[in-house]
Amino acid sequence: MQFTKSIDAFKRAQQSIPGGVNSPVRAFKSVNLNPVFIQKAKGTVITDIDGNQYIDFLASWGPLIFGHAHEAILAAITEAAQKGTSYGAPTEYETVMAELIVEMVPSIEKVRMVNSGTEATMSAVRLARGFTKRDGLVKFAGNYHGHGDSFLIHAGSGAITLGLPDSPGVTLGTAHDTFTAEYNNLDSVRALFREKGKEIAAIIVEPVSGNMGVVPPTKEFLQGLRTITNEYGALLIFDEVITGFRLAKGGAQEYFDVMPDLTTLGKIIGGGLPVGAYGGRKDIMDMLAPIGPVYQAGTLSGNPLAMAAGIAMLKLINGTPDFYAELERKAAKLEAGMRNNLVSTGVKGVINRVGSMMTLFFTNENQVTSLAEAMKSDTKKYAEYFKMSLESGIYIAPSQFESLFVSYAHTDKDIDAILDTNLKALKQLH
Ligand SMILES: *Cc1c(COP(=O)(O)O)cnc(C)c1O
Repeated sequence: MQFTKSIDAFKRAQQSIPGGVNSPVRAFKSVNLNPVFIQKAKGTVITDIDGNQYIDFLASWGPLIFGHAHEAILAAITEAAQKGTSYGAPTEYETVMAELIVEMVPSIEKVRMVNSGTEATMSAVRLARGFTKRDGLVKFAGNYHGHGDSFLIHAGSGAITLGLPDSPGVTLGTAHDTFTAEYNNLDSVRALFREKGKEIAAIIVEPVSGNMGVVPPTKEFLQGLRTITNEYGALLIFDEVITGFRLAKGGAQEYFDVMPDLTTLGKIIGGGLPVGAYGGRKDIMDMLAPIGPVYQAGTLSGNPLAMAAGIAMLKLINGTPDFYAELERKAAKLEAGMRNNLVSTGVKGVINRVGSMMTLFFTNENQVTSLAEAMKSDTKKYAEYFKMSLESGIYIAPSQFESLFVSYAHTDKDIDAILDTNLKALKQLH
């Protein structure tokens, strides 16, 4: 494969954009490569500006669960655009979208649309603080909730540590209000609540962790978070920006049958356009302006193009009876194939999968259930694996600590292709 045009494009981009990208992971830094610049995509195939083609298993980091440029979504966007792109006034699109979400996501009684997952989580936490009149926030090491200040906090050496900012620019004051616990470790949560329970407004959690690689919750974990928050009068926020509409119509809360107070959504809900949402119990959501005191707003929130795309996406999901069964079938086939490849090549690894999200960790550990275990992965090996995959026409996340996404558009041939590449790469890694 030739990457000349992408190399030139990256040089040029770096002159006027910090690091040449508008989101850091796109720079391929952790795999030490020049990023490929995309020209177009359709279905499961991405074409870069050098004309190389890849079968896409990243799906724009999750949103494209029907593949790229789906006809129904394109038609909805086009139809909306012809009537104007933004009004800054209510439209019926927004109500239709809200009704669909309320119908699909079990714990959501009312919902507010925003423009990204980050905006959704920031707003949900403000609302939780306003509702409980408390400042503290519990998050989990290795969970990602967008780039809001409160979420950019490292875990300290122990579980019960005051947060330290993870990025310059996050103030100590903000960090002071974020407490970090360990994923899948209820004791670390209980310890925080014993000490700070009356200060804690909410726990925010990825019900399936997707941002330290895929790490499933234990059965007891999510249920335990529900019990602890109930006990202390704190709110439980499920960050379903990845899991929403991916694991089930009602997301992880339906999949695991644990109901949060607030839910944040993004990615799939925008049908490939920039959208986020947060919703939940009516009594909490009614704290929002203009009927309540908690302020949150957006010039482009509920944008007609974004709503049209999102509605088309949710209608596609609702109108495809075998949707989740097919995702599960394909993803299970992929998992089984990769497990065989690991065994036949003798490469050590752990595969974590929940529904259509999955990660192959290059590790000598027997399991990955927490950030600490995920961090033991061999990222150099992953970088080599990524390079071999890319050069064989398979597009996956340029980092060990991300998910692979199976979409409804993937064919059995696509799955066979990634399994072939996987086997070849594992043989060379051995
Ligand atoms: C991607 C992601 C976000 C942030 O969404 P953006 O649209 O990138 O701001 C928040 N939470 C989770 C779990 C995510 O995966």
